Amino acid sequence: MLRVLDHPLASHIVTHLRDKTTKPATFRTLAYQLTLMLAIDATRDLATEDKAVETPLEATAGRVLAHQPLVVVAILRAGVSMVQPFLDVFPDVSVGYVGLERDHATAVARSYYCKLPPLAGRRIIVVDPMLATGGSAAQAIGVVKANGGADPRLVCIIAAPEGVAEVGRRHPGTSVHVGVLDRTLSASKYILPGLGDFGDRLYGT
Ligand code: URA
Repeated sequence: MLRVLDHPLASHIVTHLRDKTTKPATFRTLAYQLTLMLAIDATRDLATEDKAVETPLEATAGRVLAHQPLVVVAILRAGVSMVQPFLDVFPDVSVGYVGLERDHATAVARSYYCKLPPLAGRRIIVVDPMLATGGSAAQAIGVVKANGGADPRLVCIIAAPEGVAEVGRRHPGTSVHVGVLDRTLSASKYILPGLGDFGDRLYGT
């Protein structure tokens, strides 16, 4: 259930995101661009319906998105950076937030905030840029399911194999869409080669 973006532009963007000399303003733009590509890829199976329109030249049959509202659930704080691309391309998006904080000593996620729109019957996409141990993502997917959300997908910029495996173990069958699959985790649970702390790179902290 893992899908990795296979596009030269995705590789180009990821390489510049990794580069430690990339400044926060450029990093934010690159993160936006890659998330836009992921948003399009992760929604390629959205239902469509017929719509007849008239071009300036003639009548033609077209297809438009069927009414199935999309919910994007961002894992705070870095997941917030992935919301705007979804808002920019999809007409009916509502946004939820799950606050999970990684304890840097234990690498275990702690929940401190949860605000979700109605989830029943909606297409749900959980966003978090770095899928490291998979603990936060699996916990957020659990929160979504506990609040009535069926079949949430997970969209990440970089994933470690360990995180993909953990999500698969705790939520079998979950679709995971990533920009790139990296090698492994460091002893301190950072993704290798990765890009460092995404939130710090994003906000210059
Ligand atoms: N979170 C990050 O920001 N970076 C990592 O490498 C792992 C988790």
